[in-house]
Amino acid sequence: MSKGTTEPGYRNRNEQVVVRKTDLPGNDHNQITYVLRCDECGHEYGSNGSDIFQRRCPAHDGGATGLSIGD
Ligand SMILES: [Zn+2]
Repeated sequence: MSKGTTEPGYRNRNEQVVVRKTDLPGNDHNQITYVLRCDECGHEYGSNGSDIFQRRCPAHDGGATGLSIGD
């Protein structure tokens, strides 16, 4: 069985891995912010849950700027 795209450990096709869920709202309707980590450069950033499957790294792969993850 494949994992849901918001479960910790899920990796999308762009090598972005789900680290954890936060308590912070996302910037899209009814979304929560999740922390993703780029498996290629180690950058961590926030993403709407609904965007995880298609997210690209904002640090090295031209993805959109990540959401705040509180630090
Ligand atoms: Zn990266």
